[in-house]
Formats: sequence, C-alpha cells, structure tokens
Amino acid sequence: MSNEKSRSIAYFSMEIALESAMPTYSGGLGALAGDTIRSAADLRVPMVGVSLLYRKGYFFQIFDEEGNQSEKPAEWVIENFLIKTPGRVTLNLEGREVIIEAWRYDVLSAHGFVIPVYFLDTDVEGNDEEDRVLTHKLYGGDARYRLCQEAILGMGGVRMLRNLGYNNLHTFHMNEGHASLLTVELLEESARQEGRSEVDQADIDKVRRMCVFTTHTPVPAGHDQFPLELVKEVLGQREIFELKNVFCHESMLNMTYLALNLSDYVNGVAKRHGEISRLMFGGYAIEAITNGVYAPFWVSPPFQELFDRYIPNWRDDNFAFRYALSIPLEDVWRAHLEAKKLLVDYIARKTNIALDMHAFTIGFARRAAAYKRGDLLFYDIERLKKIARYHGKIQIIYAGKAHPNDKEGKELIRRIFKAMDELKEDIKVVYLDNYDLKLARLLTAGSDIWLNTPRAPMEASGTSGMKAALNGVPSLSILDGWWIEGCIENITGWAIGKAPNGDDFDFEQNGNSEDQEDAISLLDKLDNVILPMYYGDREDFIHVMLNAIALNGSFFNTQRMVQQYVLNAYYRYRALAD
Ligand SMILES: *Cc1c(COP(=O)(O)O)cnc(C)c1O
Repeated sequence: MSNEKSRSIAYFSMEIALESAMPTYSGGLGALAGDTIRSAADLRVPMVGVSLLYRKGYFFQIFDEEGNQSEKPAEWVIENFLIKTPGRVTLNLEGREVIIEAWRYDVLSAHGFVIPVYFLDTDVEGNDEEDRVLTHKLYGGDARYRLCQEAILGMGGVRMLRNLGYNNLHTFHMNEGHASLLTVELLEESARQEGRSEVDQADIDKVRRMCVFTTHTPVPAGHDQFPLELVKEVLGQREIFELKNVFCHESMLNMTYLALNLSDYVNGVAKRHGEISRLMFGGYAIEAITNGVYAPFWVSPPFQELFDRYIPNWRDDNFAFRYALSIPLEDVWRAHLEAKKLLVDYIARKTNIALDMHAFTIGFARRAAAYKRGDLLFYDIERLKKIARYHGKIQIIYAGKAHPNDKEGKELIRRIFKAMDELKEDIKVVYLDNYDLKLARLLTAGSDIWLNTPRAPMEASGTSGMKAALNGVPSLSILDGWWIEGCIENITGWAIGKAPNGDDFDFEQNGNSEDQEDAISLLDKLDNVILPMYYGDREDFIHVMLNAIALNGSFFNTQRMVQQYVLNAYYRYRALAD
C-alpha cells in the first residue's frame, strides 16, 4: 500500500468485471478490463483503475418459453464488495453541481501488489433525484444519460483521482472511447496550471503525450457520438469546444475521434482489427496489441491441478504453457472430462436438463448481437441432424444477453429457441440465462469445442476462445479477430469460411451469400473433419487440445498483453521506474 498515491498509470473503462456477482460489466470489454488489471497487479504495474458503480447493474435476464427476453434491474449489495472512500468531487452537468463519490475495490496479486479500482457514484445525499440515477445502469438510458455518464467517468474520474491524491499520473489509458472526456479535464487542468484560462497548443501537445487510446470494435454503434447542442446543454458552453479540429467530427462530439485526436498511442485489439481501424480512421497512426485473458482466473480447477503438476510456474510465467506439449494425453483427457462434468452437473442443477458426458458438446456464448450470427449453426437443420445421426451424438449449449433495445439481438435468441424445438428429438440444445464470468468459466472449459461465427470483419478480437484454449478446448471459428492469429488448421483448431484478404470489406454489404457460404463451411468442417476425429481418432483430437494450450494459451493471455502495453504505450517516453 505504500507509495500508492505515486501511481503513474490511470486506466479508465466504462465497465470492469472483477467478480462475477458484481454486475459492473456487460461483456467482453469489461472482462478484458478486469483481466488487464489482474495481470497488471501481477506484473506490479503502478496502475489505478476508474469506472462507474452501476447500482442496478447491466440487467438480470429472463426468458419465456419462446425465448422472449425481458429484463429486471440487477440489484446488489455494494458494501459486500466495495469500500466507500472519503473522495468527493463535483461536476457541473446541465447547470447543476453534481456530487460524485467513489467506492474502492482492491485487486490484489498473489505476491501482495495492490491495484485500487474506483467506482464512481452519484447516488448520494445532496444530489437531485435525476442525478442520483446517473450511475445506476450500464448502457441504459438515452443519449443525454449516456453523455452524463461519460462526463462523470472521464471528467469526474480525473477530478476524483486528484482529490484522492493521485498527482503523479503520467499516462491515462482510455479503454474504448467512453472515457475520452478525460482529455477535456486534462486540457483544462493543464491550462490552469499554466495560469491561463484558454487551452492552447502547448496543452494539446502535453495531453497527447499523456494519453493512450484502445479502440475495441468496428461496429458503428460502438462509437458514441453526441450532437453539439446536447454537449453544450450538458457540459455548458466551454471555450474548448471551439477547437473544432480536436473536438468535433462531422459537427458532432465523436468520442472515438476525440480520443484519436488527443492520444499519441492508439491501438486496435488484434492485428486484423488494427488494419480495419486504420481503414476506418484514415490519417491516424493505429497500432495493434492483441487481447488476452487472465490465465489464473480462466483455467478451470481440473486444469489448474494438471498444470500445477506438469508446469508448476504457469501462473507467474504464462510462457510456461509452451511446455504443455509434454503432458500425457490421458491426463489431459481426464482433466477435460472433469471440467465437462462440472458444466453438465451445473446445467442439471439449473435447468433439470441431463446432458450426456460422452456426447460431442458445442459451446457458444457471447452477447446476442446480430453480427455474431449465433444461429448460423442452424442454417440447415436437416443436415445437422444427419451429421449427428451419422457420426455420433451432438449437444449444444448457448448463453448470452441481448441489449434491452437490440431488437435484432432479441430476435436472434428467439430463432435459437425455435431451432431448439425443431431439433429436440435429435440434438439437445440448451440456452442458459444470465451469462456472466462464472458461467463463462464453466462453459469455456467444459465444452468440447468453442464455436464463434461473427460476420467478418466485425469481431475486433474476441476473448472467449482464448479462455477455451487455456482449458484445452479448441475453437471452430470464422477467421476474424484473434482467430486469424491463433488458428493453425487441424493443429490448434479449425477455421470456418475463407481467409480474409486485404481490405476487401464493406460494412454496408449485407451478407446473405456470405452467411450461406459460412454456414455450409461450418457444417462441412463438423461433418468431414471434426466429428470423425472426435469420435474416431480421439488421440488426434487430444493433440489439438494440447496445441491449443501450448501455442495459444502461451500467447493469448493478459500477462503478455500488459507487457506489450508497458513497452509500447505506457512507458514510451519514460524509464520503467517512473
Ligand atoms: C469473455 C467474456 C465475454 C467476451 O467473449 P467474446 O468471445 O469476446 O464474445 C463476454 N461476456 C463474458 C461474461 C465473458 O466472460
């Protein structure tokens, strides 16, 4: 705890997943943020984290028999997880002084290094009713609500860190554009320090050297933009808005462009995503640091035991996964069956559905968004039935939430429920509700194969397949995001469809023909390669499992990823000791 206020790197994220039961996250962005902080703690990176509290969480998911999703607030007992700090700042929103307080969570490494994470809260005495709800819901509300939240996160977050005594921060990492209003606070702070009331080029140059920006998605809805009239209503008339080439993009406040303009290190989250981002945002230097996952959290108990036996230093040094190749095949299979049993037992308890330990089990869990095409597997139901009849039993497990306003995502879940019904005599399909960290752990470790079917190039990285790889579960996936780097056909898993070539993508093209091609490729792979191997050549299949651990587990982890941020971004101007 000593020297804590001398932290040098502030990590800002709209969502951070630290514990499954703390609903401060919705999906991959939050899972990545949590894993990043956990690895940073292990590596003793002098970091501090900032996010919002979300007293009502993202939401609690409820289904009816047809798969219609409805939502309830996810209430939780804050005091069971977090400690209230004495920090207290105000931020003027819509002309009202809004009080912000902060709750603290300590991420503690096995060796005792702590990274504090502050969750900002406006539900405090003294605030108007409409301000008290501002930090209640993750990704809830309208544009005004979202802008207020992002001002609290970015501007309020910087003020809170200062108020708590963090005065040595040299790097501010914006994990996605939601946090980019922190640049406004830093600019105004810089001008104030120089005794000026106007922000000038020196402030801009200084702030750019302090800021790191990671963009996370090519999907347009992931890039918030706000009309300038709304911005002025919420944040007041600020002289800084006149810096048009910094603050405005196409007459809007675009959070992505604001971050791009004020960060001198920018990256995408996989090599391919870096390329796509350079095409989307011409004129900006955009690097790539491929995502990872935090191994000690995502390796299931049976595999923890296995690794402890054969590669005992794997937690401290993830490169050790390289040596998983020497683990005997029968031990790997035994650990896998234990992980599968944990999943099968869980499903029996939760749903009363008895899955078969010996059936080939396909796992698919992620946000129910249209571009992820969760129903691609059901493109030709009759053929899928035939494949199962010919090779051996298949069972499929789904999980994932649709955003409350995402009609297409909700429709996608209904289509999966419909397929479930059509398949019920031949193939068991289960849809589990309330996908969270805990469920992700069970599913990624207990499935026999991890399926991912995004419409390329929309999947910036994807991380659930990395969690699976650490547990010896190979992926079957579209060549997009991390899988372009991770897939060696028949060695670490299998590809669906064609390899991407160059920059021949078109966001407008609606890919019906692409869907058909990909669906056929998916069924072909199952029919001709994977099921024959699983049921007929188990040893070969276990070799693929081992390669997934050795080749992909050793690289697609946040220990490697954070080291890359340290080397390329956080300390690009400084000695590691600063
Ligand atoms: C890992 C994880 C995700 C992200 O997985 P993707 O493969 O990127 O879709 C989403 N939600 C939860 C709960 C996770 O644990």
